[in-house]
Amino acid sequence: MARLPVTEESLIEQYGPHLNHEPAGGWAAGGEPDRLVKTHCCFCGVQCGIQLKVKENQVVGFEPWEEFPVNRGMLCPKGVKRYLQDGHPDRLLSPLIRTETGFREATWEQSIDAVADNIRRIQGKYGRDSFALLSGASLTNEKAYLMGKLARVALKTKNIDYNGRLCMVSAGAASRKAFGVDRAANPWSDLPLAKCIIIAGSNLGECFPILTDYVWRARDNGAKIIVIDPRATPVGRTADLLLPVKPGRDSALMNGILNVCIQRGWIDRAFIEQSTNGFEELRKTVASYTPERTAEISGVPAAAIERAAELWGTAPTGMLIHARGIEHHTKGVENCLTCINLCLATGKIGKPGSGYAMITGQGNGQGGREHGQRCNQLPSGRDIENPEHRRVVAERWGVPEPELPGVGLASTEMMEAIHKGEIKGLLLICFNPLISLPDTDYTRAALEKLEFFGVIDFFMSETARHADVVLPGSLQEEDEGTVTTAEGRVVHIAQAVTPPGKAREDWKIICDIARKFAPWEQFPYSCPEDIFRELRHVSRGGPIDYYGITYDRIDREHGVFWPCPDLEHPGTPRLYEGGKFFHPDGKARFHPVEYRPPAEDVDVEYPVILTSGRVVSQYLSGTQTRRIGPLVDQYPEPLVEIHPKLAAKVGVRTGDRVTVTSRRGAVTLGCQVVKTIRPDTIFIPYHWAGDKSANKLTIRALDPVSKIPEYKVCAVRLEKAV
Ligand code: SF4
Repeated sequence: MARLPVTEESLIEQYGPHLNHEPAGGWAAGGEPDRLVKTHCCFCGVQCGIQLKVKENQVVGFEPWEEFPVNRGMLCPKGVKRYLQDGHPDRLLSPLIRTETGFREATWEQSIDAVADNIRRIQGKYGRDSFALLSGASLTNEKAYLMGKLARVALKTKNIDYNGRLCMVSAGAASRKAFGVDRAANPWSDLPLAKCIIIAGSNLGECFPILTDYVWRARDNGAKIIVIDPRATPVGRTADLLLPVKPGRDSALMNGILNVCIQRGWIDRAFIEQSTNGFEELRKTVASYTPERTAEISGVPAAAIERAAELWGTAPTGMLIHARGIEHHTKGVENCLTCINLCLATGKIGKPGSGYAMITGQGNGQGGREHGQRCNQLPSGRDIENPEHRRVVAERWGVPEPELPGVGLASTEMMEAIHKGEIKGLLLICFNPLISLPDTDYTRAALEKLEFFGVIDFFMSETARHADVVLPGSLQEEDEGTVTTAEGRVVHIAQAVTPPGKAREDWKIICDIARKFAPWEQFPYSCPEDIFRELRHVSRGGPIDYYGITYDRIDREHGVFWPCPDLEHPGTPRLYEGGKFFHPDGKARFHPVEYRPPAEDVDVEYPVILTSGRVVSQYLSGTQTRRIGPLVDQYPEPLVEIHPKLAAKVGVRTGDRVTVTSRRGAVTLGCQVVKTIRPDTIFIPYHWAGDKSANKLTIRALDPVSKIPEYKVCAVRLEKAV
């Protein structure tokens, strides 16, 4: 039997004994397999190693892959059940074209022609940028690269972006500003070496369960654990110190902790002097964030702020990790910068057990933002506005530099552009904006305004139902490629089975569309490895250099960390060693941040804060996990988490239904009265559609730099449902 995570007991205690159940038929469901395929989990950015059991071209179970060093055979509940989506009756098996009476099956030729004809018609009538592409951060590096090339070389539209815009962009922008490059600074194997760990805005035990093993190994080694979260999540309940921050006040809290460190002399003056710029300005900015003032803003008691500073400041090593809890804000970039300021000022970066990492939610959240599917980026992290970067990419692609489009719209801005009539056509792959974007009704109205909407996906998502053409693509196990994990390790996704029915590998579909607009020589690939070879070549010498990484090396070495500039280079698990950063002067930059309030704060009419997030058994928009029976059983529908004091005011108890209303809309859901949330805040998980969608309530306010929406704070009111 496969080993379950070391977090098993606590998860069972919290979520029930079904975690211990084998799937129907046991792990050997379907009988003896024909073969075992070493690959990775299709869900979060940890990208746990797994061996899929394949029988007669179907995934029928799994075995642990104990040699893969990140998870050593362990898997969380989602990883254990992931194989159950293979062969699902909802799988799209044929291209579909919308008619007046619904979808009809079509041939590939008819469907690709329909897509190409509509792109031509719309671009001919309204201009090239009137047709947009929306891509996904679960796609492999090869597909992300192809989508960028499809937009810029074949369709020549500037408007391409991806759903990582809803996930990693605040952290990425902050890292580029402070360090000069966007990647976790340390591998996960540094966590057990840390003597203090700060986990900010991450429900680690539910969203990245395998990483809790690293945190607990650190604790076994004597580390102190500090968790910053408005909810006492599973990892928060076991922490040495829980700072229950009021949603939207993280930057003030981090400033306050740093100020205490500076006042008490818990900073690394030699490191600041040798390896950073801008400390004096930062010191002046944070000086006004006394424990008392910080407590008033953040809702965290002054004594706890001082204790956090002491634990972090006096520890010989420390790691700070964060996730969407501090990033999904109109000041998401600023929140991340305050975390980086704390690491830099205390010299906790670039050393074993000392550093900084952001935990990517999507499987390829890291690689998905590196290879050119973002609206402002060319492959290998090159800047689309930098003349030298444009010259290099144009030369390697064999196109004139002036023909490369400039900066396009972010995915969060595209819906507004559709409403304004600036975007008339859209092709989307593996993105479910109808659930993922804030203010669902606004998104639905935008999709209905499109003159043409094409979708590539493997299930009929809520968004795909609005399409004119649906192209059946591939599940993760049906295609080959590479993914870059949250720690910067490039791993190999093996093709375990071929797509069923008439479904096809995504990369082939993208190439077929591209070849309608560009000569074969520009899209000459016969397999994903061909695309990867070109990606390596294009990345050579760039900010994100993959040149030394090959499929063979990845398989032999259990993944390779970038930057890896040549075939003899060992890869770079830990960045910034010796205090060397990626800015031209080799130094890191402090960024002083003044706290500013959320876009929509509470008032008399809407007196409660809504924050949203994930649950352990579901993944993102739920397109996959809401189709896996045991995961649905575990958490069948969204519940409103509400503190007993607030519940008493509203007059509800666990099991009652409550109507939550914001300025955008209302939902009526069951409620769960828990002491593990601030009394001024409610929590709703966002994986569901329609009347269960948390994003019917959320606000479209964006971070001005990263363009990420403020999912973690908006104002609502509650009433007991009749
Ligand atoms: Fe590992 Fe993440 Fe998959 Fe869970 S969801 S098994 S933590 S990769």
